[in-house]
Amino acid sequence: MSKIIVNVLLLVSFCLTSTLISAQNPESNHGNKFEQIDNLLWPPNTYRGADGAPGPDYWQQKVDYKIECSLDTKENKLTGKETITYHNNSPNSLRYLWLQLDENQHAPDADNHIFNSSSMDETMSEQELIRLENYNYLDKFGVNITKITGATGTKLSYNINKTMMRIDLPKPLKPGEKYVFNIDWNYYLIDRMNTPSWGRGGYEYFEDNGNYIYTVTQWFPRLCVYNDVEGWQNKQFTGRGEFALQFGDYDVKMTLPDDYVIASTGSCQNYAQVLSSEERKRLESAKKSDKPVQIVTLDEALAVEKGTRSTKNKTWHFKAKNVRDFAWGASTKFAWDAQNYRNGAGQDVLCMSYYGKEAYPIYNRYSTKAVAHTLKVYDRYSIPYPYPVAISVEAANGMEYPMISFNPGRAEEDGTYTERAKMACISVVIHEVGHNYYPMIINSDERKWSWMDEGLNTFVQFIAEQEFDNNYKSRRGPAEGAISYMKQNKNRLEPIMTNSDNIIGFGANAYMKPATALNILRETVMGRELFDFAFAEYGRRWAFKHPTPTDFFRTMEEASGVDLDWFWKGWFYGIDAVDVSLDSIKWYKADLVNDPKKEVRERERVVTAPFDHITKKRNKEAQMEFDVDKDPELVDYYTNFKPWETADSIIYSKTYLYDETFTKEEKEEKFGTKNYYELNFTNVGGLVTPLIIEWTFKDGTKQIDRIPAEVWRKNENTLRKVFVKEKEATAIILDPYKETADVDVSNNLWPIKELPTRFQVFKKNRSEKQLNPMQKAIKRGEIIKP
Ligand SMILES: [Zn+2]
Repeated sequence: MSKIIVNVLLLVSFCLTSTLISAQNPESNHGNKFEQIDNLLWPPNTYRGADGAPGPDYWQQKVDYKIECSLDTKENKLTGKETITYHNNSPNSLRYLWLQLDENQHAPDADNHIFNSSSMDETMSEQELIRLENYNYLDKFGVNITKITGATGTKLSYNINKTMMRIDLPKPLKPGEKYVFNIDWNYYLIDRMNTPSWGRGGYEYFEDNGNYIYTVTQWFPRLCVYNDVEGWQNKQFTGRGEFALQFGDYDVKMTLPDDYVIASTGSCQNYAQVLSSEERKRLESAKKSDKPVQIVTLDEALAVEKGTRSTKNKTWHFKAKNVRDFAWGASTKFAWDAQNYRNGAGQDVLCMSYYGKEAYPIYNRYSTKAVAHTLKVYDRYSIPYPYPVAISVEAANGMEYPMISFNPGRAEEDGTYTERAKMACISVVIHEVGHNYYPMIINSDERKWSWMDEGLNTFVQFIAEQEFDNNYKSRRGPAEGAISYMKQNKNRLEPIMTNSDNIIGFGANAYMKPATALNILRETVMGRELFDFAFAEYGRRWAFKHPTPTDFFRTMEEASGVDLDWFWKGWFYGIDAVDVSLDSIKWYKADLVNDPKKEVRERERVVTAPFDHITKKRNKEAQMEFDVDKDPELVDYYTNFKPWETADSIIYSKTYLYDETFTKEEKEEKFGTKNYYELNFTNVGGLVTPLIIEWTFKDGTKQIDRIPAEVWRKNENTLRKVFVKEKEATAIILDPYKETADVDVSNNLWPIKELPTRFQVFKKNRSEKQLNPMQKAIKRGEIIKP
């Protein structure tokens, strides 16, 4: 094999220089974006495993409720009494129980009236001015606890701490024991349309005929979650972070004037008493229909709405098994329709909608169909919908509870509606019904982590919308939709992993960004098959249980075989945006015209190329010829000699020694026709991302290269990478389908210049690659033995 000397390109010396610089300052380019996040996650234990699944000792409490209440529709006052059975499945004895009194959010002394900053403006609305003052005018609101007793009627002592209440047990409740107690209470419902502190539940009053739509939610004293993560939940309700509740069985009776129709969580136990025989007949046919059947028609609803209010009462009775909450709505305005949906496990679910005349044009056409469609899509991403009913009630503000949700969807006064209003209604129905899965069944703690229910739900909502209509203009989900938020100044951003109450951009941070992140994970990082399997595994593992963020992160990795630590760190724990700049492109072609063998004859075999003044001196003193192939000791000698650690500047020889493998003809065949494109990228945004590169070739054809995000793992800031193409490219676009949420696409496009740079081809020995920079320099003859 002949020895040859070949010109070294400037490119190579640049590469070496950058290698040396990063060796000097390792933190300059190699941060920790790809290091594992074990230290950020909850340590695995026997309750929650390292795999992200419930562990062998996982436990959760169970709470059963028997409630009787009556709604005074003149005073808008709800009075109730409940018997609670608390099952202590924990390994600990409990001396007290904590309950949530969410209605105290409206009490005049509630923190949420005063814990926000405020400022004056040139114009101020009346409501804004009212909000600046005290809230004494709300003095009748909040929960009145009238009695708390044990099963046998003995009074229990209790302490109310704003929206929470501690009940002290007569003796500690041991593991495996249950405790039965009673609470009597009442409260005034809030006018949820006209109260500065907006309400999840309350009433909306319709002036035309003096009718109401009541949404009775978060309405009875409910047990807080007690779990292995924090013991008793201890975050107050401020109206924002929703709730964390235990699963249990409910038996609820509501007494109202008999002209009201009730929509409720659970199965009605006494339709025979509360519905007409005609209505029951229609309901039976709806159970067999895959299209909506009207139970109460618009005309029938209008007749009740316009009639005089009844003074007689009737009692509705519902039961629900294994739910984490219970809500209901009631009105003299409701039309009502229903259809059947058979879930993936072959169980029938009655999908129903209740709506006043204002919503009739949209709701009657789309609501119940959207409910059934939601179940069909969501079932694939978690578990088959396990409850007997799924309900959409039209109310001016949306909110979700087990089996029932309240979703706005009104038409114009003349009964017409815009495409936009229709889509908004379908979206909100899908979204709120979708909440049955996240968090009603897959029961994350909403009070802490809004993204776990809003983000996951918005993500599946996007898929359901796209399957509803493939031209559906989804508001949230596509990567592009996240750009305007993520490119903001960092002082306006916070990580997704921010407590619900502390989020500035709630819609963007809790809904849109996590939904976008999951979309990118599915479409760009993992692929649909791996993502869908892992995401459904999360739902299956944590259905009817209480997952934490750690359980989600771990399950997604463990079930897919993809290390996503970098993704969680960047998207969920960070505030960087994706912005990759394609800075430059160099086009190279092999130079097979000039004969390198000719050069070898013209050059000296040994060259002097001192590193710095020290080595320069040494070299002067003792220059000699050497051949590293024959002198392995020399390699060892220089292994520990690191001139770059002291050198001010480094000058490399432009001469190499190499073996040649291929003949000129072979080189022509293997390399001569190819185009070598060296692309230089800068990670401007900071969030590491896969690279999607679209090539347009001279003949008009296109090709996509997909490079995983790990390409940034050794240098998070800049990247140089060579792509070999048979055809000549005319343009390159980064992220052509806008799938990575790159916030600045102006630096993603690059036309390719006319002429390539020529380079020469030589063989690089395999062993050469394993040498360190010093050894390489010796081999190249750039360092002379002193
Ligand atoms: Zn939501």
